[in-house]
Amino acid sequence: IIGAIAIFEDVTKVHRLEQAKSDFLSTLSHEIRTPLTSIKGYISLLLHPKGNFDQPTKKEFLETIDRQADRLVRMIEDLLDVSRIEMGRIQLKRQLIKFKPLIEKVIVNLKPKVTAHSFRINFPPKFPEVWGDPDRIEQVLTNLIDNAIKYSPDGGVIEILGKEVNGQVEISVKDEGIGIPEKHLPYLFEKFHRVDTALTRKTGGVGIGLFIAKSLIELHGGKIWCESEVGKGSKFTFILPISLRKHENTNHKFL
Ligand code: ADP
Repeated sequence: IIGAIAIFEDVTKVHRLEQAKSDFLSTLSHEIRTPLTSIKGYISLLLHPKGNFDQPTKKEFLETIDRQADRLVRMIEDLLDVSRIEMGRIQLKRQLIKFKPLIEKVIVNLKPKVTAHSFRINFPPKFPEVWGDPDRIEQVLTNLIDNAIKYSPDGGVIEILGKEVNGQVEISVKDEGIGIPEKHLPYLFEKFHRVDTALTRKTGGVGIGLFIAKSLIELHGGKIWCESEVGKGSKFTFILPISLRKHENTNHKFL
């Protein structure tokens, strides 16, 4: 019976992944078409023989084209990261990470997406530095904070909390958004998994951000998880071992 249950579970997992993959293909096509349509539209306007636009208008068009092209590049980078992760080809370039400035940088970069949100960064005054890859941890924080913005359409407070627990750092990103139904929590970090709601259909995304975040945190020897309540909000937390460089062991560094 146990064997039969195990096979049954495997079959449902395969079925779920197949479904996620076919949803992914249609979402991906949509995600590629939207920025391309916009790029094409603005270029056609600029090239139109009768289009006599003044300099500020042209600049505005070009800025939109630039933003949409960036969006495509980021998406392709994410897709390439998925294949790098699966082939075990991600190499961490470790150095000491100072969390507070890194988080501030992520928030500044995401500013164009912020509508009615406010941010609270809550770290103890002395917070340990972590020996990790700052670009990759920035990518994790960007995915989590970007989601916190995307999935709280009415705004609210987005809180980023830092704690030191038993030789590890614990970082949480907490929002007051739509929340996630309990039955989705076990699959949330799987590749292509998205919660099908009117909002997720409307917002961009192909369901690989959390998969990438989990893989990168695990590469650092850490863990990531989510607690959430529908209608109240979500809290994503990851822990990372502090593991300082050998010669720095005796010289504990703080922010
Ligand atoms: P994407 O956002 O591109 O769809 P992710 O892998 O980042 O992909 O997230 C997977 C899914 O998890 C999302 O589609 C969404 O349904 C859900 N999700 C992630 N973060 C949040 C959040 N902060 N609040 C509510 N739902 C979330």
